[in-house]
Amino acid sequence: MLAIPGFVDPHTHIPFHGERSEEFVMRAVGKSYVEILKSGGGIHSTVKKVRKASIDNLVKENKKYLEWMLKSGVTSLECKSGYGLDFENELKQLKAIKKLSEEVPQTLISTFLGAHAVPQKGEKAYLTELIDMMKVIKSESLAEFVDVFCDEGAFSVEGSFDLLKRAKDMGFKIRVHAEELSSNGFASIAAELGAVSVDHLIKIKDREIPTLEKYGTIALLMPATSFYLKTMYAPARKLIDNGVPVALGSDFNPGSNTFYSPLFVSHLAVNHLGMTPSEALVAQTLNAACVLGIENEVGTIEMGKSADIVILDAPRLEYLSYMPTNEIVKAVFKNGRKVFEN
Ligand SMILES: [Zn+2]
Repeated sequence: MLAIPGFVDPHTHIPFHGERSEEFVMRAVGKSYVEILKSGGGIHSTVKKVRKASIDNLVKENKKYLEWMLKSGVTSLECKSGYGLDFENELKQLKAIKKLSEEVPQTLISTFLGAHAVPQKGEKAYLTELIDMMKVIKSESLAEFVDVFCDEGAFSVEGSFDLLKRAKDMGFKIRVHAEELSSNGFASIAAELGAVSVDHLIKIKDREIPTLEKYGTIALLMPATSFYLKTMYAPARKLIDNGVPVALGSDFNPGSNTFYSPLFVSHLAVNHLGMTPSEALVAQTLNAACVLGIENEVGTIEMGKSADIVILDAPRLEYLSYMPTNEIVKAVFKNGRKVFEN
């Protein structure tokens, strides 16, 4: 058996409501994004479902996903809002995260992603609302991070910058969804502004990499989304070789990636990102904990930290990415207590 630190998943879209398997099949047979939208798919279909759900609905459904993740060795993870897109429903999601954190063994870190998609009222009007939401979220301690999806079809570079600056001034830690669909240079802008992590980076340009290195910004890569959407993979090797710390996450969500297993992400990291098995493990434990600001409590097995430990039926480290089935997870310990056994 092999003992490793509990996996930390620093980027998920839990909690969500409902599923989009119909859309998955449409995409698989080559239907365009516009055709999918016209048939009622896309992010706004999840927004509709989340708006209809109660906090208890969200807790019940997402507790199941957290249980699946626990069985795959995830002992800490990030959860975020972003499917409400208005005051009431964004807060509802954050409250559901709070409730979930009281009911599951894992450590949950909460992010406010009100800026996930631009609602019909337009970016300018919505950004003003987001600032009001942040004030309430801060006063009720409902999120540690503020995140923005700055990309083609989402928020503009200017609007994203203004929002994150306000968030930072209010005392939030900041992070971004950047350069997944287009090369708009926002990863380095966010790094300069003090973002803890810049997430996705499939389309990042070489000239931006030194800025990430300079500010110690963590590049958070999610190869399962590339696999699911059949798109390019982020330049992990180039980032690591240029001194940028890399973390790995699942990006588990109902629209663009339904893979949650860190073992599968480890397989993709080795097979498609050119990372070594030990680089992948560090990226899924200590570096991921650094993204969430919990590196002093979890992420390694050492004196003084929580005993978050996963026992794997694996003869050596290389085996996890080679045989990425959850069946090799034999036991999971959270803070020294056994929370799963197989
Ligand atoms: Zn995301």
